[in-house]
Amino acid sequence: MFVGHYGPAAAVAGKRIKLWHGFVAVQLLDILWAPFVLVGIEHARIVENFTASNHFDLYHMPYTHSLVMALVWSLVAGFAYNAWRKCGGAIIGALVFSHWIFDFITHKPDLELWFGGPKAGLGLWDHRTIAVSVEFALLLAGFMIFLKATKSKGVGGVIAPVVLLVALAAAQLVGNFGPPPGSAAEAAQTAIIAYGVFAALAFWVDASRTAK
Ligand SMILES: [Zn+2]
Repeated sequence: MFVGHYGPAAAVAGKRIKLWHGFVAVQLLDILWAPFVLVGIEHARIVENFTASNHFDLYHMPYTHSLVMALVWSLVAGFAYNAWRKCGGAIIGALVFSHWIFDFITHKPDLELWFGGPKAGLGLWDHRTIAVSVEFALLLAGFMIFLKATKSKGVGGVIAPVVLLVALAAAQLVGNFGPPPGSAAEAAQTAIIAYGVFAALAFWVDASRTAK
């Protein structure tokens, strides 16, 4: 899954956690995956039309996307957030783990349950129209809750969410309908940049809106 991950982050952001914190949390497993692929700890390859939705054969990612490590990263992130902000760690931990749940629904069976264990994945990516619809439904539902729970401080509070949603939608559509990336390393570099840009735009939204 890609932008659908942001739905739960938006749904709970506002009072207790910042939107951009949620944005980092829901993609933490992928934010770790990208450098792990670049340095060769985890492995992926580009296989054109590997699924109906994209071209990723994610055949080795036990440190970021196994069930057991998703739980570990969720706990680490939750405790670290509590140490930093004094509250909200349970929300952040749940958001980090939500990434695995949604990846489990969308991926082919490439998510190890534990190191060397069986691989899980329900394969929604093989149904592109449904997969893309689910991504956008989750994203928009989350943002409707966020926009209701917060109010704009000025014109920026209206513009920033629109810019963020347009950027997310564009990235999703390029990912689903664009040409395959040149290599797994290229995909990992693009992912790091994209997650950074989205978190920065979410920071702008945080700065321009306030909890009701
Ligand atoms: Zn993932």
